[in-house]
Amino acid sequence: MANKGEKKYRKIRKAHIWSSIVEFLLFTVAATFILIVALAYFGSYVIDTKIASEYEKILTMSRLYESGIESGDRNIYNLLKAEGRDYLITDAQGSILYADGTDTRSGESGTVLLPGYDEEILVYRDVSRSFIYPGESGRLTLDLAGFARWMSSDEDEEDKDPELALESNRNLINLPLWLVVEIDGGRQFFVGKAIFSTGRRDVMMFTALVVGLIILLGIIMFTILGAGIKNFIRQRRMLSLFFDDVVTEGRNRTYLLVKGERMLRRKCNGNNRFAIVSLLFVNYNTFCICHSVQQGNQVLGRIYRAIEKKLDRREMIGHCGAGDFGLILHYEDERALRIRLEGIISELEQIDSEHKFFFQAGVAFADRATDEEGRSVRSSELDFDTEYSDAMAARMSLGGGDESGIAFFDDKLIKEQQWLDQVQERQRAALDSEEFLVYYQPKYDPRTSELRGAEALIRWNSPEFGLVPPGKFIPIFEKNGFITEIDHYMIRHVAADQKKWLDQGLKCVPVSVNVSRAHFIESDLAEQICRMVDQAGTPHELIEIELTESAFFDDKKAMINTINKLKGYGFAVSMDDFGSGYSSLNSLKDMPLDVLKLDAEFFRGETSDRRGEIVVAEAIKLAKNLNMRIVAEGVEVKEQVDFLAAEDCDMIQGYYFAKPMPGSDYEEKMKAGRSEKPAEEDS
Ligand code: C2E
Ligand code: CA
Ligand code: CA
Repeated sequence: MANKGEKKYRKIRKAHIWSSIVEFLLFTVAATFILIVALAYFGSYVIDTKIASEYEKILTMSRLYESGIESGDRNIYNLLKAEGRDYLITDAQGSILYADGTDTRSGESGTVLLPGYDEEILVYRDVSRSFIYPGESGRLTLDLAGFARWMSSDEDEEDKDPELALESNRNLINLPLWLVVEIDGGRQFFVGKAIFSTGRRDVMMFTALVVGLIILLGIIMFTILGAGIKNFIRQRRMLSLFFDDVVTEGRNRTYLLVKGERMLRRKCNGNNRFAIVSLLFVNYNTFCICHSVQQGNQVLGRIYRAIEKKLDRREMIGHCGAGDFGLILHYEDERALRIRLEGIISELEQIDSEHKFFFQAGVAFADRATDEEGRSVRSSELDFDTEYSDAMAARMSLGGGDESGIAFFDDKLIKEQQWLDQVQERQRAALDSEEFLVYYQPKYDPRTSELRGAEALIRWNSPEFGLVPPGKFIPIFEKNGFITEIDHYMIRHVAADQKKWLDQGLKCVPVSVNVSRAHFIESDLAEQICRMVDQAGTPHELIEIELTESAFFDDKKAMINTINKLKGYGFAVSMDDFGSGYSSLNSLKDMPLDVLKLDAEFFRGETSDRRGEIVVAEAIKLAKNLNMRIVAEGVEVKEQVDFLAAEDCDMIQGYYFAKPMPGSDYEEKMKAGRSEKPAEEDS
């Protein structure tokens, strides 16, 4: 199937070429027609007038003959002989009574209506020539080709008939007709051979007509051809504009879409491998903001030319918009291609002496293209757009970070894409049919092993995929916005569970629920949460809200506002993943938080890491001084528990005590109230 660019390209090509071709063809047909009609008219005119005058002569001869018979004057025959023309006398049955000269009638006869004569005249064709036909309409019809041959031939009757040549001038030619005149009341007929004298004037007139017409038609044809050529040149220019990129003064994306795709379809195969690359100038937007769009575009132009220099004749480049360049590269093997791209990128990184730029490349292999069902695509059906999207997807998998990188589009990426599609397709139905489960991970006091709280963690119990951990779908929901509904779902279920357990007389502890940062910007978030918890009839102190550390950077004011409102309603608020990435010390200063959750990262790796211990100990002290409780996440070993107990850490949430578990198991933990031993495999 042709892509959009290809279609437009073809349209431009067709529009101009076709108008010229159609014009030219129409005119050629019209010109040929005009020429034929003009020649036919002229020929008929000549024939008509010649035959009329010939008929007049034969009529005179027949009268002479008749008068000779009546008067018995034999001299009349000598007079007729002096005419130098063949003639014969027949009776009504056509038998020859008298002949003077050779009878060359073909035997075929017809009637014609001569101009100026009322009645039809009987004519015979001549065996030697046949370009005049007595037509059915009673007119003489001219066979143009035969006529032209006759006009141009040197063959003259005089060559065959020396007598005639002697008597007449060189231009006397026998017409291919015998004209019949009735005499003696229709009992006898005078049949005379017509003689056509092509005078110099006739030939000149004919030649002038033909030459004139040809010149005229030639001029018109030349004009049309000129216009066609002009159109063709204009079209070439338009097409080149079609492929021009105004920013880099190179080629654009359409060029790849049309020419690139054609080239791939022709040349890409197992021996001749091509890769499609989406190469992004990462700093383009920032550079434009800091300098100007014009300067940004100048850099793009330089990048374009620098890449162009690195390509061989089989390869192509096009600027695909903003900082993105599309490349079609020839490659032998993946490793060599990666090395080559690394070389190009490292050169581009230094294209500006004052700035360090970054470039990210995504690569899709055209020779390995597959369709949606995973079947390999034939090269004749290769589609640049699809390959380019794959290359972009590969590039985007690098993340938007400020660094250079190369990613190849492979099966993993396809699977990720498929997974993304499946999740998005099913998310709504999964929520409606309550496929999402709430798991609880208890939090214990390391000093007393008492149950002090829990975190609600989502699981997706999918009939198709089994029990899916949140890492596989939460990031997708965060991107597509579905996370808001998930957060609501979790709060409602946790509130309902807590209420149920409370009613059962269980000793409930606060359960924290994760609220995504995407959700946190909503100004009435606190009200929404309050309403949901109240609907379940759950005391507010049994619900805690966990905010992830990175969310604190979005809109500080709104954040503080929401936290204050939540606290006002009596909910505890915690900062999740403290110390996991961004420095959040500053946020602690302004945020009136209740709980600090130390990121699990602190407890990975070496158990007796002295420096790590110092950081953790100081974080605990900091939290205490700020009047916050502290939870250590991801604690798996006894030494860490002992250390945290010694440092007065309030709670531990980790596999050492318990893994996240279904609500029914968590009920048992509540009933026990404290943990005696290391946790067993619960989930
Ligand atoms: P998180 O909020 O930091 O949750 C803690 C994660 O650490 C949980 O993973 C938990 O199972 C895991 N964990 C706890 N103790 C240990 C340990 O000792 N060792 C190890 N290796 N892991 C431990 P999980 O349940 O897979 O959740 C992953 C992330 O998914 C959560 O990180 C949270 O960011 C997100 N998430 C989970 N449930 C929800 C939810 O209901 N709403 C939102 N918005 N996000 C959620
Ligand atoms: Ca959490
Ligand atoms: Ca956490």
